[in-house]
Amino acid sequence: MRKPFIAGNWKMHKTIAEAVELVRELRAELAGVTGCDVAVCPPFPALAAVHEALSGSHIGVGAQNMHWEEQGAFTGAVSPLMLAGLCDYVIIGHSERRNLFGETDEMVNEKLHTALAHGFKPILCVGENLDQNQAGETEAFVGGQVRAAFAGVTAEQARVITVAYEPIWAIGTGVPATGEGANVIIGGTVRGTLTALYGDDVAQAMRIQYGGSVKPANIVEFMSQPEIDGALVGGASLRAVDFAGIVKEGSACKAQ
Ligand code: PEP
Repeated sequence: MRKPFIAGNWKMHKTIAEAVELVRELRAELAGVTGCDVAVCPPFPALAAVHEALSGSHIGVGAQNMHWEEQGAFTGAVSPLMLAGLCDYVIIGHSERRNLFGETDEMVNEKLHTALAHGFKPILCVGENLDQNQAGETEAFVGGQVRAAFAGVTAEQARVITVAYEPIWAIGTGVPATGEGANVIIGGTVRGTLTALYGDDVAQAMRIQYGGSVKPANIVEFMSQPEIDGALVGGASLRAVDFAGIVKEGSACKAQ
């Protein structure tokens, strides 16, 4: 059985004070909810304060990005050494990083290797855009992203990686995929590719999230699908009551 995992990606939202207020509320809302792994991914400046505000709670902390080098002349970048002790998870290859900041499959692969080498639990994002979706290219494109990201990753390392399937056309649009549609890509394409790479045992143990306009009102549609193990939540993770609602409904649904 895969334990459900729901993570919130705050993107470029929340000052340090706002971040602390949000996780204090979240901590209270989620006290006693244990059927699901939960993490929040604040912007870099708020990581330390959020880490402290969540100490002793079961809510994990993740970074939204990380450079593949440990140090060097990379103005504005943050290295794994700087993140050590502040977070357990790191989002890698989010479509906004790929599309707005020019991250290639090769860079995503390097980041994945660095994150694993430094003991982080990566959340690897993949997903097609609207044109690719409408052209029927989803399986080929997403399968290719998965193969490129996992190049050189061992089976043992793969087990700690969560893959988030996030169709770009569903991110921040209010137009989510359907639960059934996401289940087909997650089971057939993402887990199918992982099975081809690592075999059934490893692929069945790995958690795969859906992301894209997840809300309290639609989380059950996704979590009731057998291949979907959780969600990566953007906009709806910015309010404690919404994110807590997603976690509570999502974990209750998987517990049935
Ligand atoms: C995301 O950015 O990963 C995301 C899924 O955003 P949203 O939930 O706002 O669509």
